[in-house]
Amino acid sequence: MLCLFATATGAQIKKALDRSEGEGPWTQLIIRGVTLIDGTGAPAFGPVDIVVEKNRITDVAIVGYPGVTIIETKRPKLAPGGKELNCEGMYLLPGFIDMHGHIGGKEQGTDAEYVFKLWMAHGITTIRDPSAGNGLAWVLDHKKKSAENKITAPRIFAYTAFGMGNNKKITTPEEAVAWVRENAKAGADGIKFFGAPPQVIKAALEENKRLGLRSAFHHAQLDVARWNVLNSARAGLTSMEHWYGLPEALFEDKTVQNYPLSYNYLNEQHRFEQAGKLWKQAAAPFSPHWNAVMNELIALNFTIDPTFNIYEANRDLMRARTAEWHADYTLPSLWKFYAPSRVSHGSYWHSWGTEQEIAWKENYKLWMTFINEYKNRGGRVTVGTDAGFIYQLYGFSYPRELELLREAGFHPLEVIRSATLYGAQALGAEEDLGSVEIGKLADFVIIDANPLENLQYLYGTGAIVITEKNEVVRKGGVKFTVKDGIVYDAKQLLEDVRKMVSSEKAKTGATLTQPGLVQ
Ligand SMILES: [Zn+2]
Repeated sequence: MLCLFATATGAQIKKALDRSEGEGPWTQLIIRGVTLIDGTGAPAFGPVDIVVEKNRITDVAIVGYPGVTIIETKRPKLAPGGKELNCEGMYLLPGFIDMHGHIGGKEQGTDAEYVFKLWMAHGITTIRDPSAGNGLAWVLDHKKKSAENKITAPRIFAYTAFGMGNNKKITTPEEAVAWVRENAKAGADGIKFFGAPPQVIKAALEENKRLGLRSAFHHAQLDVARWNVLNSARAGLTSMEHWYGLPEALFEDKTVQNYPLSYNYLNEQHRFEQAGKLWKQAAAPFSPHWNAVMNELIALNFTIDPTFNIYEANRDLMRARTAEWHADYTLPSLWKFYAPSRVSHGSYWHSWGTEQEIAWKENYKLWMTFINEYKNRGGRVTVGTDAGFIYQLYGFSYPRELELLREAGFHPLEVIRSATLYGAQALGAEEDLGSVEIGKLADFVIIDANPLENLQYLYGTGAIVITEKNEVVRKGGVKFTVKDGIVYDAKQLLEDVRKMVSSEKAKTGATLTQPGLVQ
């Protein structure tokens, strides 16, 4: 949501260091004895041995039945020079895809190393950078290094902020088309839009589609009155971010949001407080207009990337602000960036309390109803986080997004499919990514607990469980993240981040105090 102004500066964060983590790839890697959740929507099955040659899956072999000894004769044989990873009893999923992953920013003080490790520690092996906030050249450089595995980082898809690099605002269709062609030539994977005059957006979307590139759109409120999600989808937009522009497409007794007359868009308390009352102004769920808009978007093969988590502070500010991982994993500079401010973007807590939170809880219900039904009718919903804003931390916000899809009504298998196969489809990368199938790239999440039973096992800090001996322990946290056949110790990556944070605190003397409280 917040990339809006951050992108304008193009100020760059520190580059990722050369890779010193991960083992492999091998001529042959056999991951033995896992229960597989393959990402297609199929139920879990196992025990399974998965064979990888270099970076591709070459076999998925069922090697027995639950609860009985593995049938040795069914097991794929280890070839000379091959490597075995015994993961008996563990769960294996496709690598996760974060469809809305900003690679940190100068204002947040979050360098590439910090962000990449938090993502990889949570099994995120692919991200789409929606705006290339560090500049397209910077992002393409990291994309290339990640593709070559020279750095520890997810695969990167770069969607440049529309108009980025132009020395003046694009105001004509001709300028739009020229920019779109330049962007494609530079090697971007797509475009991220925020808003522009309708004729400019239309020309840009049509040209981008003609060139075979993809697109994302945060329909900023300054432009939604004259160009909403439906206009974009008809012109060839492939995915929408967040939710802006969707209630506007669903209006039936008004054409602009019911803004109070003192509203000022640049006052972010106004902006986010009124946004919490927006879904109520749209057509009621399952009404003819609501149905018609939904059905048309689905017919256009349109993807919705809701990023539920990034607004969660709106319905429960204290939850977001006091999440247990902040203490060990949030950098002091990022903490400072989150603090209430009339100036910083996304820090609109001038006076945020019961009334605002309850309005947002109702807003979420209506929004989630749309998203769940969109999925039920065959629409594609993906998982994106937009972390680095509003108390949402890279990596940790991902399981939270999964939980919010679950809350919207998705079955956990539908949640995982959105996180994997549907993300790959939305990126146009489903031949290589998104499910555990023969021929695809070896990107996996391996975890010592069943995430379908509790999505909270996917948090780096795991979930609390109590043992038979009445001891409180943590269960879960991704154990191995596999990307391109390279096996990373996910817990060690998280430990690296913890050290980065504690050394930063020691160096600066900064502590993460709650805003306005005297310590
Ligand atoms: Zn964003």
